[in-house]
Amino acid sequence: MTTQHSELPAQPLTRLSEDEQLFRDSVYEFADREIRPLVREMDEQAKIPKALIDKLFDLGVMGIEVPDSFGGGGASFFHSVLAVEALSRVDPSIGVLVDVQNTLVINALVRWGNEDVRKRYLPKMAADTIGAYALSEAGSGSDAFAMTTRAAERDGEWALTGRKLWITNANEADVFIVFANVSPEAGYRGITAFLVERGFSGFTVGKKEDKLGIRASSTCELLFDDCRVPRANVLGEVGKGYKVAIETLNEGRIGIGAQMIGLAQGALHHAMAYTRERKQFGKAIAEFQAVQHQIARAATELEAARLLVYNAARLRDSRQPFLTEAAMCKIFSSEVAERVASLAVNLFGGYGFVKDYPVEKLYRDAKIGQIYEGTSNLQLQTIAKQLLG
Ligand SMILES: Cc1cc2nc3c(=O)[nH]c(=O)nc-3n(C[C@H](O)[C@H](O)[C@H](O)COP(=O)(O)OP(=O)(O)OC[C@H]3O[C@@H](n4cnc5c(N)ncnc54)[C@H](O)[C@@H]3O)c2cc1C
Repeated sequence: MTTQHSELPAQPLTRLSEDEQLFRDSVYEFADREIRPLVREMDEQAKIPKALIDKLFDLGVMGIEVPDSFGGGGASFFHSVLAVEALSRVDPSIGVLVDVQNTLVINALVRWGNEDVRKRYLPKMAADTIGAYALSEAGSGSDAFAMTTRAAERDGEWALTGRKLWITNANEADVFIVFANVSPEAGYRGITAFLVERGFSGFTVGKKEDKLGIRASSTCELLFDDCRVPRANVLGEVGKGYKVAIETLNEGRIGIGAQMIGLAQGALHHAMAYTRERKQFGKAIAEFQAVQHQIARAATELEAARLLVYNAARLRDSRQPFLTEAAMCKIFSSEVAERVASLAVNLFGGYGFVKDYPVEKLYRDAKIGQIYEGTSNLQLQTIAKQLLG
């Protein structure tokens, strides 16, 4: 058949450019050297040491998409996905710290910040400042726009009153993107995004949650009591915060997909190493065909999940529609992560059930993938809406 061979064929999705490969390898190497020895202690103490956070800034993974002119990496969204995957393979708590910083906070600042906001905040984010993204409340999770946090104009500033719940990075963050409604009578068209700094009067970081998984990642309540925010700290436009929220989360959930494939890769790696070593009935358990098939199926599911995640990220970077693909990648990869981590626990036998081995933690960590940044039911709702109208 005489087809047009002048065009190069499209690149395989998992084929990395030289730059992507070097970046990914540097994060892999860092995760094994600097994070792995701390994983158990961080999980037990529910804390990430400041020294490790400083090293993450030095590595350049805290400002991946911040333009070079503001001191960041000037890299793509796909680079953020590679970093989150590589870190989550070792510790999904570090994965989500880096994920929220890049795919939610910096992403929103780059996209919605005016020149003044970008100049004031992006250099800090790339250098030493952690960000958090505060949408959810006690009474509004999936129905996020039913929020009750309010903002009113007072003395030439904005005054925020209300509470946010479940805010990742809140313990370490100095900058918070906070969503509040300036005119509840306008419904979601009153929602506005504000940039709140830790030191603003009337703002307090509240109770830290004691969690099942990703325990080292902080999750806290935020309290706003007549919290004063300068007018210049509105992110985007007044009344357009709903767009900031939706569009940022549409992208952010690809990052959660990356966290989940990293987690599954970590669990599979431990399962393969262990089954080659552990002997029963006189041979390595990896020699039993039943075990081989379980591992082969897990690897196949992981590959499918990775293709969904990489495709969604590459679609986003090439400015093509990616809403359905992002929802699909999140639901599928979070389910695969739970299945693969569960298999890893099974293959470790009794040793899989105790904290001396790493797989019980990955099993606990996997559960959150089906909850945050839109539960699985909400992802299915998004996919169905695109398919069926
Ligand atoms: C560890 C952790 C970190 C988090 N980090 C952040 C953060 O940084 N920033 C932030 O803003 N939020 C954060 N969240 C909040 C998270 O996004 C919400 O928990 C999530 O969106 C679900 O909301 P909810 O907990 O209120 O559950 P609900 O919305 O009450 O849902 C409960 C159940 O009902 C189902 N359900 C709800 N509505 C429907 C529907 N229409 N159709 C079918 N089923 C439905 C859900 O799928 C779920 O199974 C975090 C949560 C956790 C646990």
